[in-house]
Amino acid sequence: MGDVEKKLEAYEVKREGEAEILMLKTNAVFFNPVQVHNRDMSIAVLRTFVANRKEEHEEMINKRNKSRQHVSQDILPKADGDGTSSEQPASSSLDGEINGDHGKELHRTVDKAEGLSTEATHTPSWKRIRELNAPVVLEALAASGLRSLRYAREIDGLGKVVALDNDEASVEACKRNIKFNGSAASDKVEAHLADARVYMLSHPKEFDVVDLDPYGSPAIFLDSAVQAVADGGLLMCTATDMAVLCGANGEVCYSKYGSYPVKGKYCHEMALRILLACIESHANRYKRFIVPVLSVSMDFYIRVFVRVFTSASEIKNAPLKLSYVYQCVGCDSFHLQCLGRTVTKGKSVKYAPGIGPVVPQVCSDCGKKFNVGGPIWSAPIHDQDWVLSTLAGVKAMKDRYPAYNKITSVLTTVSEVLLLLSCY
Ligand SMILES: [Zn+2]
Repeated sequence: MGDVEKKLEAYEVKREGEAEILMLKTNAVFFNPVQVHNRDMSIAVLRTFVANRKEEHEEMINKRNKSRQHVSQDILPKADGDGTSSEQPASSSLDGEINGDHGKELHRTVDKAEGLSTEATHTPSWKRIRELNAPVVLEALAASGLRSLRYAREIDGLGKVVALDNDEASVEACKRNIKFNGSAASDKVEAHLADARVYMLSHPKEFDVVDLDPYGSPAIFLDSAVQAVADGGLLMCTATDMAVLCGANGEVCYSKYGSYPVKGKYCHEMALRILLACIESHANRYKRFIVPVLSVSMDFYIRVFVRVFTSASEIKNAPLKLSYVYQCVGCDSFHLQCLGRTVTKGKSVKYAPGIGPVVPQVCSDCGKKFNVGGPIWSAPIHDQDWVLSTLAGVKAMKDRYPAYNKITSVLTTVSEVLLLLSCY
């Protein structure tokens, strides 16, 4: 028996989906099979993301091509013939001539060439619509790398997957697992020893997908995570500190998430909305905002999937998406108080604080007082189109999801259940 075999004897191979990881037999008890729900759901949403991103990019190209065609037809002299002659100057030599009238003229010629030709290769680099690169993924707290390996091996069309961990032994294990999974994994996945916060801050907008799956609260990672996501990219974030988010220690929740929880029947929905409000507030600091596509409460944790965009004007709408909650201490009654409102006069829209209070001093149902909680995210927490296409995608690939039953049941519930804490 060689050294390698002897070494391998100490390990047990755990397989999940198409990935395999080596676990020291002494550590195998720490393998948590419940987490397969989390990973399957993430893979399902990522597949939707890859497909939607491609679709959006194609739509953008079509739109641009149409408008260019339109412009060039208006501008070019008719004597120019059928346009094919202008294809030649449209090749690479035009770079750097975009200033001045001459540049403008060439620019228009190029527009015409592009509108009439199906050959994108004739378009100069400054005019070429950026190629859609395969999405790059960052797993901020990767541990042994099982999740990153599954992403790389199972999701078609994914680019590089960067797996970070702050613990040297975990990174070593991750590197070992990458090797163990063969070239399909080692070509794509790379493991680094790093503090995820520092790494994300030093790679602004570089990742199409950022995955945060910490033990406990993700709060300390949010500020850097919202900066690492590319425009239109996806942030996936887990929180397992459910007791805190559900109101067991309101003051702890406030210190971590900037929101006060109240105890109500909607505890898990409230937890999701507190996490979303927190992510939004970090995003807003950098002129960015979130659009949730799916928010789920599973097993002992919650997980949200949000897209991140940049827009200085859209962030003015942030207060319209947040609310305080008045929860009666005597009965189930509760009311939402939106933080902001808009006043429209003709064409101008002005932003103003919300008008309150929305409740009387005592509950009209039972006569008791109200607790005030929040602010929570009171805009939609799912995008129904995303939910339905994710569900359809999962059903079409049943064999590829070890937790098929669990995730289809969660997605079906999400698509059917009426939410309580929504202003919309
Ligand atoms: Zn009441």
